[in-house]
Amino acid sequence: MTTVRRILHVDMDAFYASVEQRDRPELRGKPVAVGGDPNKRGVVAAASYEARVFGVRSAIPMARAVRLCPNLIVVRADFHKYRDASRQVFEIFRSVTPLVEPLSLDEAYLDVTENAWGELLGKAVAQRLKTAIREKTGLTASAGVAPNKFLAKIASAWKKPDGLTVIAPERVEHFLQKLPVDALWGVGPVTAARLRERGIERLVDVRSGCGNWRTASTIASSSRTARPSRPAARTRTRTTSPTSTRSARKWTPWPATRRNGSRSTSSCAGP
Ligand SMILES: [Mg+2]
Repeated sequence: MTTVRRILHVDMDAFYASVEQRDRPELRGKPVAVGGDPNKRGVVAAASYEARVFGVRSAIPMARAVRLCPNLIVVRADFHKYRDASRQVFEIFRSVTPLVEPLSLDEAYLDVTENAWGELLGKAVAQRLKTAIREKTGLTASAGVAPNKFLAKIASAWKKPDGLTVIAPERVEHFLQKLPVDALWGVGPVTAARLRERGIERLVDVRSGCGNWRTASTIASSSRTARPSRPAARTRTRTTSPTSTRSARKWTPWPATRRNGSRSTSSCAGP
């Protein structure tokens, strides 16, 4: 008998910017961008939700961010602080399960099929984790719960900040039917346009029409459990550098069209 895994994806909300707003009350409620100097080709490493309203987001040049939001408060990144907060968050994760797969300083997959709290529902674990993170760090996180990593990651981004979205096993098929093809990792706007030219609009079209596509195997591999053996050093390499546009291309499952807001996940029905 196959056990349905309970996978969480937990992602801190606007992590670096939230740490700064936590530590500097004068920044709260204001548009804040953490990153490099706009006059020295710096880039945005993180933007507060107040700044995102103006189109400011991570990985864009800081000079452009300032043009988009003239009142933007630019804060120099302090990775000592972010690593401290990250350490606290990951201590909480690892107190619940040894199966923690870090993706960056502020996000990870957790396999909580078995967990130290003895919770039977992934949702209950996620809720307790969010509460523990808030109590310990004063920061909010969004969580997704699903039977695999691919869907857990989509779920955590569904409602932000401070969100909790569950895709129950019996709703997975229904959920997949609604997803556009560019929900697939690595499918950006150009690939998505080409796929649409071939009549592949939805994720499930890949499965039904192109059984041996590499992309189909990507979905399959994402159903593996969290990989706790991933080297911790790798989390540092994924950190968005505040000074380099090149290294600021943070890994994300979202295509650029999503990130720049021209296409929203809200076009799909929620789980
Ligand atoms: Mg985050």
